[in-house]
Amino acid sequence: MNCPVCECPKHASIATKNGYAIHRCEECSVLFIHPFPSAQELFDFYNNYHKSKQYKDKMQSKIKRARSRIASLRRSGDLAFLDVGCNLGFATEAGRMLGYRATGIDVDADAVERAQKHFPGASFRAVGIEVLAAEGQKFDVIYCSEVIEHLVNPYEFLCSIRAVMAEDAVLFLTTPDVGHFSLPKKIDKLVEWTTFRPPEHLIYFDKHSLGLLFKRAGFDSAKFRFGFKPTLKVVAKP
Ligand SMILES: [Zn+2]
Repeated sequence: MNCPVCECPKHASIATKNGYAIHRCEECSVLFIHPFPSAQELFDFYNNYHKSKQYKDKMQSKIKRARSRIASLRRSGDLAFLDVGCNLGFATEAGRMLGYRATGIDVDADAVERAQKHFPGASFRAVGIEVLAAEGQKFDVIYCSEVIEHLVNPYEFLCSIRAVMAEDAVLFLTTPDVGHFSLPKKIDKLVEWTTFRPPEHLIYFDKHSLGLLFKRAGFDSAKFRFGFKPTLKVVAKP
């Protein structure tokens, strides 16, 4: 298996967590679980994912946070909004509240059904982003929070997101930042951070590796927003 970000074949184990080896790419220095868990292992893990407590907690504050992030993109009008990896639909609902035609997608059909019941003003589909890309759909504002670190194919994922972006569209994407100034530099201390939780999180980005992935996926621009918390926030244009 090559590096999931830059396809470099050279990477070595630097730590273990929960019995999984964490490798660092020699070329782009991204951290990732090696080998990736099997499809069956991931299926079993995600089967009850949205039922875990953390996803039902703080619903109103999650909607509020998504709403302020989306509003900060300063796009108004009759626009199509897409929430990629919507889970229970909090950010999708935030997009709807801002006046967009809001769609949420997630591969978890059960979560999508619950989201649709809870937020009837938005529309939800249990599909991956590649399905919308194949359908030739276009969106003006795209939100994707804490999804890419779960995926075995982040490059194809970003390419599919770019494919569904209208010409003037904007993407807001977040993922944990393992290079954040608030975190320990030593790897054995760093992996104690709760965000290192394989098999839930498979890839651990910093500014350099995530910026590289956006470049590879053909984005015209990808700008990082400053944050006091260890979360990468990218605003990107196709
Ligand atoms: Zn790499």
